Amino acid sequence: MSSAVLDPVLAHIDAHIEESTEHLFKLLQIPSISTDPAYREDCDKAANWLVEDLESIGFDASKRTTPGHPMVVAHAGTEGPHVLFYGHYDVQPVDPLDLWDRSPFEPALEQGDLGPVIRARGASDDKGQLMTFVEACRAWKAVHGTLPGKISLFFEGEEESGSPSLVPFMRDNAEELTAEVAMICDTGLLGDHTPGIVTRLRGLLGEELTITGPSKDLHSGMYGGPAMNPARVLAKIIAALHDDQGRITVPGFYDGVPELPPEITAQWEGLNFDQDGFLGQVDLSDLAGEQGRSALEMIWSRPTCEVNGIWSGYTGAGFKTVLPSQAHAKISFRLVGQQDPHVIRENFRAMVRGLLPADCSVTFKPHGASAGSEMSIDNPAFDAARAALSDEWPNPAAFVGCGGSIPIAGHFKSILGMDAMLIGFARDNDAIHSPNEKYDLRSFHKGIRSWARILHRIYG
Ligand SMILES: [Zn+2]
Repeated sequence: MSSAVLDPVLAHIDAHIEESTEHLFKLLQIPSISTDPAYREDCDKAANWLVEDLESIGFDASKRTTPGHPMVVAHAGTEGPHVLFYGHYDVQPVDPLDLWDRSPFEPALEQGDLGPVIRARGASDDKGQLMTFVEACRAWKAVHGTLPGKISLFFEGEEESGSPSLVPFMRDNAEELTAEVAMICDTGLLGDHTPGIVTRLRGLLGEELTITGPSKDLHSGMYGGPAMNPARVLAKIIAALHDDQGRITVPGFYDGVPELPPEITAQWEGLNFDQDGFLGQVDLSDLAGEQGRSALEMIWSRPTCEVNGIWSGYTGAGFKTVLPSQAHAKISFRLVGQQDPHVIRENFRAMVRGLLPADCSVTFKPHGASAGSEMSIDNPAFDAARAALSDEWPNPAAFVGCGGSIPIAGHFKSILGMDAMLIGFARDNDAIHSPNEKYDLRSFHKGIRSWARILHRIYG
């Protein structure tokens, strides 16, 4: 379907992709490594560069100081739904430097498996992704003389170093940052040709437990038999956390876990996810989670309980006939829907205490508790984005999940009451956080075109 509004913007993007790449190169040349104090001025320089660039395309942009690296906030337009776009301008450290084929802050085009790639630290995570949106705005402004509607930009400089200023900054500037919907560009394609819109993220709950039996390590010849071994107790507790169907047995664990709506099930089936290949690439063949669920369901929409570490007794070279005094484990839960991490923590602890024999005691150490988040996709911007992405990419877009936790999306929801869609064009082989990071020129180009299409669908 041709459009007098959109078509000239897409044509402009195609005709000026070299200039867009040069803009990105300028940002990539600034070594804004947020975790290393030696690069503090460079982070500041990157923020300044963005402010100046955004002002040149009609945004009212400003650098905002924080106790750490500055934020960049920009606004434009008054018409239509208010959209907030988020990205981060800081990057990961580059060492080991000798594993890079080129200097990480001297970006260049190289040949990759899907055509040219932009090689530099931050090319994919997240400067290249951030600039896809900026370049779409630049093209729109060049063609129509104005931006399409009420758009705000929010760029962070501490994402790669734990975002210490993010939550306080959001609280202090809640009114200014709250829009009708947020868009976050820091994720990837599904495979190589399918765009995904992440609308559900799992939360995370961590528990460390120490079970103590005898008051000191014992000789298994002297005390083996009469003395309770805490390693045995711990193994029994861990074995009790899942039933034969792969379901988690902590009481009340599935309270608040929703079933998938049929339209989402259909979208996920349409992705033709290669479950066997997914397991095969790590030399596995059988799904170990809840029986009757697909691998995608398990990763994107179901909660888990995993043992991340377990230790007790003697684990060094050789052999020691010890009967240990203590046994330890680190256990984490991925949470979804309305599961309450604090209730689950208490229920887990009560379950463990209930399984202890009289001669053992247990202590717990908490390691973080965040709930899952699920966006309400009723906001028309979600369907607009899915249609726009489906127009641009070879395969239709789907509303998907993310097995990990992306704190920014949860913060938008919990602090600003705003649903967020995570849309990104990175590929699994982009080597983010590693030497020789790259971003496919195709991702950059189609990413810019994708945002132009999304803006067109939202603002009409
Ligand atoms: Zn990132």
